[in-house]
Amino acid sequence: MIEDEAALADALEEILKQNNYMVDVVYRGPDGLDYASSGIYDLILLDIMLPGMDGLTILKTLRQRQISTPVILLTAKSEVSDIITGLDAGSDDYLAKPFSTGELLARIRALSRRSNNYTGELLTFEDLTLNKGTMELSCHNDTIRLGLKEVQIMELFLKNPRQIMSKDLLLEKVW
Ligand code: CA
Repeated sequence: MIEDEAALADALEEILKQNNYMVDVVYRGPDGLDYASSGIYDLILLDIMLPGMDGLTILKTLRQRQISTPVILLTAKSEVSDIITGLDAGSDDYLAKPFSTGELLARIRALSRRSNNYTGELLTFEDLTLNKGTMELSCHNDTIRLGLKEVQIMELFLKNPRQIMSKDLLLEKVW
């Protein structure tokens, strides 16, 4: 999340964490570009009016760098021109402030569904099934409940079957 209104950013961070999302928050444009350029994120929430560098410039720069992470623009300016510019610059969706947290969560879920490997709440590989909603991992008749980081690690494995993942990648993605 790249958002300079600290009170809003902190409130959203709390809500997202309560909904089992891991969030990094930065408040300045250049920091946002640095973080987002790492390419390790699943989604970017991007404010438009930011100190140091505006959100549309960040978005254009990311797309020029071939970073295709989905972006939801959070804009206080509901002017049509900003939204059109944002969508043209490679944004996937936008929300005009003030928005309800329910709507934000719904749009995050919608973008997740659009990604290539969408499988809903259930991820399976051979006899393993991970339910992301209940955070339960099942194998035949056995079911265990996982912690949040365990769910995220299993999700990475199940979405990338038969691939070897480096410790560094796991650290970046999950921690
Ligand atoms: Ca702002």
